[in-house]
Amino acid sequence: MATNYNSADIAAFKNVWVFCEQRQGKLMPTTLELISEGRKLADELKVELCGLLLGSNVESLAEELGGYGADRVYLYDAPALETYTTDAYSKVICDAIEEFKPEVMLFGASNIGRDLAPRCAAKLHTGLCADCTHLDVDVEGYVNFLKEASTLDVDSMEWDYANRDLKMTRPAFGGHLMATIICPRFRPAMATVRPGVMKKGAYSEAKAKAVIVDKPAVALTAADCKTVVLDVQKAAKKMVDLIGAEVIVSVGRGIASDIEGGIKLAEELADLLGGVVGGSRVTIDSGWLSSDHQVGQTGKTVRPKLYIALGISGAIQHKAGMSDSECIVTVNKNAAAPIFEIADYGIVGDLFKVTPMLIDSIKEMRAAK
Ligand code: FAD
Repeated sequence: MATNYNSADIAAFKNVWVFCEQRQGKLMPTTLELISEGRKLADELKVELCGLLLGSNVESLAEELGGYGADRVYLYDAPALETYTTDAYSKVICDAIEEFKPEVMLFGASNIGRDLAPRCAAKLHTGLCADCTHLDVDVEGYVNFLKEASTLDVDSMEWDYANRDLKMTRPAFGGHLMATIICPRFRPAMATVRPGVMKKGAYSEAKAKAVIVDKPAVALTAADCKTVVLDVQKAAKKMVDLIGAEVIVSVGRGIASDIEGGIKLAEELADLLGGVVGGSRVTIDSGWLSSDHQVGQTGKTVRPKLYIALGISGAIQHKAGMSDSECIVTVNKNAAAPIFEIADYGIVGDLFKVTPMLIDSIKEMRAAK
């Protein structure tokens, strides 16, 4: 790769790209969320939205990407790309970026995306903003976002409405501040976005059929593939699927006086409602629940139809992961707990008394039907 690659004219870079993570021939949900978000950015920039799809025998996924908004899919299909390895994937991605020059490149902040994006950014000598929660190109849209989401006096500030930099917003200083980062001198502007943060858009059959599939050659030598995956062994442990759940019953430090009993109550309520159990960071750090249950800034970002918070105070880092839930119900002994500020229904009381009452009344309502 040319060492002066990124001193090139940035005007030569065009189009929005999304790395389309797939595992065993199935697109990860984050990919579709990013394709939908990428569509918005591409429309603001008036350019194409392209999916970058790597794998083996994965061409059939291109239609699905088109259906969610991709105009074009760059497909790199080869047996060597069947299972993810950092060296092979980063080589192919950097070659593709160098050849086709996208101006924006998005990755999901999954384990793979978090491994891959910084590797590619370093190789390409460009900037990467990790764990973004909001993206804009259009300055007017960004100003409106600031009006809604910040305390800045945006009307008294000067704005360059012609600016086309990607504005990448993410929590900073432990979630107490939001910071917007730009990458004005290098391209592509790269960002990772946490699963569940962006919304998946509607599927269009017509767009699916119209997607253009480009198949550039895969140039990989044995020397490029320093890692060889011999076998993939899935952990026997079943992880909780917080992001896909429509109902989440989360517990916090409020269960401390009877941890087992508190988790059991949450499980029973979640089971009744067809949901899963989540937890605040305290419950994970204390070893009461495994880390896949954590909701919040350093856990999962969720937006279920119903989020029930039992004995959770509503710290800013917890709210960052669940405040977009459709309906929030909380049970807390302390009427001044910040969780009540965002709750649709708040019950001031002891969760060990209130939760069994909730469970009983749901059972009674169902029996009466
Ligand atoms: P507490 O704040 O201690 O609240 C417990 C609540 O339970 C209280 O409101 C109390 O009134 C109530 N209560 C007690 N007993 C009962 C009872 N019997 N019945 C009903 N209510 C009762 N936190 C997260 O959750 N997710 C994150 O991803 C996350 N990331 C973080 C990242 C950083 C960089 C930092 C600095 C912190 C992060 N935190 C995160 C931690 C966060 O700041 C809070 O410490 C944490 O969310 C508090 O958890 P909690 O609400 O369970 O506990």
